[in-house]
Amino acid sequence: METPYFKVKQLTDGVYAVIAKPGAGAMSNSGIIDLGKEVLIVDTFTTPDAAKALKQTAEKLTQKKVKYVFNTHYHGDHTFGNQLFQDAIIISTPETRDLHIEKNRIGDLETEKMEMEAYLKQLENRLINERNSIAKSSVTNQLHEMTKVLEAIDELKIIPPNHLFEEKLVLEGENRRVECYCFGGGHTESDAVLYLPEERILFAGDLVLEKLHPPIYNSEMFLENLQKLSELEIELIVTGHGGIVQKGQINLLIEYLNHLRKIVLEKENDLSTIRIPTNYADWLGVDGFKRNVHVVFNELKTK
Ligand SMILES: [Zn+2]
Repeated sequence: METPYFKVKQLTDGVYAVIAKPGAGAMSNSGIIDLGKEVLIVDTFTTPDAAKALKQTAEKLTQKKVKYVFNTHYHGDHTFGNQLFQDAIIISTPETRDLHIEKNRIGDLETEKMEMEAYLKQLENRLINERNSIAKSSVTNQLHEMTKVLEAIDELKIIPPNHLFEEKLVLEGENRRVECYCFGGGHTESDAVLYLPEERILFAGDLVLEKLHPPIYNSEMFLENLQKLSELEIELIVTGHGGIVQKGQINLLIEYLNHLRKIVLEKENDLSTIRIPTNYADWLGVDGFKRNVHVVFNELKTK
């Protein structure tokens, strides 16, 4: 089944991956998990319209109410839709809750709108001169997504998680057991995952992405986190952005991070000469690689 915002893929009885359509306002992937008597949603998209479609889809597919929402991390593309689930138990780590309140705070609406309009204009201008097809599709996608956010900004309400866990939380449903883990951060200060041990399915948030330069907060934490994830028995991973992948994707990302750390150390005196390695040449993300080079450089410099 599908809506204008996403496609739904059933992974097993009562477990669905909800894969965002590019440029439509959902902006990240989600999950619907039927626990037996109630339903759990993994992340809530960016715009209220996409989140509303998610809620309706979950209720239609399962004929049950959404009781739990799990926020993998604080980024707006995974949490702005929380406002559609205000009567649910919204789960995250304490850090994610605090960052969501602090960093996603919507300030003066007119100023926010002006800044966003300027940013969209900047993206439009870049498109005129951009020749590289990968960069072009990255910028186009960003332009479409951010246009949807701007259209929705008047309606956005920041709803923080209301049920906190530090490292592990288990939910025992009638039909299945769900385990929430936080092994630290890497993509942000705090990144959690949702794991179905019997089905061996992982909802990874932005710790596992497909064909996209993973935005890095701290590469060492990221590597440690991925190492922990790779110890889980996993058959399928629902990525934060991209599709449904297999466990090998974790190793691919570990290689990416290690490679990045290596070349930054080698060329620390001339970062501008670092080019995207051919293995990752077709990965999307507006300036993702360049930004990662600088993040890793700053991280290694302060060690
Ligand atoms: Zn993110």
